[in-house]
Amino acid sequence: MGIEATQRTRGHVAGNAEDAMAALRARAMEWELAVSETAQGVILDLRGSRVVMRPIGPETETGTETKAETGARTGLGIEITAPDDRYLRAAQDSVTEALAECGLEIGWDDVAAGALAPGLSIGVAISCRQSAPGFLRLRVGLADASRFASTGLHFRLLIPPRDREPLWPRIGATARVDWPRGADALHRAVYTVADLGADWIDIDIFDHPGSPTCDWARGIVPGAPVGIMGPGGGWLPEGDPLLLFGDETALPAILRILRLSEAPARAWVTASPGDLAALGADRRVTRSGDLLEALDAADPGPGGFVWFAARDEIAREARRRLTARGLPRERFLAVAYWR
Ligand SMILES: Cc1cc2nc3c(=O)[nH]c(=O)nc-3n(C[C@H](O)[C@H](O)[C@H](O)COP(=O)(O)OP(=O)(O)OC[C@H]3O[C@@H](n4cnc5c(N)ncnc54)[C@H](O)[C@@H]3O)c2cc1C
Repeated sequence: MGIEATQRTRGHVAGNAEDAMAALRARAMEWELAVSETAQGVILDLRGSRVVMRPIGPETETGTETKAETGARTGLGIEITAPDDRYLRAAQDSVTEALAECGLEIGWDDVAAGALAPGLSIGVAISCRQSAPGFLRLRVGLADASRFASTGLHFRLLIPPRDREPLWPRIGATARVDWPRGADALHRAVYTVADLGADWIDIDIFDHPGSPTCDWARGIVPGAPVGIMGPGGGWLPEGDPLLLFGDETALPAILRILRLSEAPARAWVTASPGDLAALGADRRVTRSGDLLEALDAADPGPGGFVWFAARDEIAREARRRLTARGLPRERFLAVAYWR
């Protein structure tokens, strides 16, 4: 993994190293993460960070401890390295959570207890307008918007409950993120950065019935606080050509990929002509009433990449068909955008 690891933290799971290792391997499999066995230990590459696991005991040493020091304890030593604090704390949260789900505790050398959840900035709602028949365009003022310019397309929009002083998620004493609950719970849907400037981001929200985000966006009071947690979900797909398939919720991501990627690309989208707007004249884009049929007819060739995002059962079926076709796992992404 090509990360420049400037941040580091270490933890220790007491007891049977195999149980802890199994818990983390299971999480890695669930998240489709690469796992490799090396002389340094078992390595998990998370997005943006690296986790190295190594049984410790009388016969082993960690990077900083001598045999005499490790001899006093056994279990699994875990080291996380990352290019910045956000990735480090996010990985610490994930590792702690995966272990806790198996009844295991980890003691970390350092925990940023009390800090805002990794990647969370508090922005302010600026405006919301109808940008197309089916879309609302929300602008949020965000001091550090530039972090969305090159590392991740998506984020979580954290909307506080109406008429309450917002409580934001913070890192707890165990390194896990404590989310506000009950009456203070936040609505937290995932969205894509449609556009950005130095201190703002725009979000194109597909307007559908029963959506707490749409209801909130329509009634925003300029200056109201809103949480932006990210970026996440990866950057531009790589392949030649890029074959992109998506419904309305994926339209902002497809637009951004088409705008930023230099690779030859084609896109099939489910959207009304009005919602396609400028994309309607883009010869790379085809309106489709059946994304799965379009997927079956498309050929990624030897170097192409298939990117597919839609409702959960359609994305699942796309994944099944691509797998059945024999397309290697690293050459496609089929993601549920809503359910
Ligand atoms: C990586 C990623 C990026 C995304 N980017 C965007 C984006 O840029 N713009 C965007 O509009 N959406 C985007 N989505 C989809 C968005 O997160 C979902 O549509 C989400 O459900 C919206 O939350 P909500 O506030 O409507 O509340 P929820 O509680 O999630 O949903 C409320 C109700 O609305 C229904 N619903 C949700 N989506 C739809 C839909 N598309 N059509 C009809 N009914 C629906 C749900 O089934 C539920 O009944 C993205 C999703 C992912 C995973």
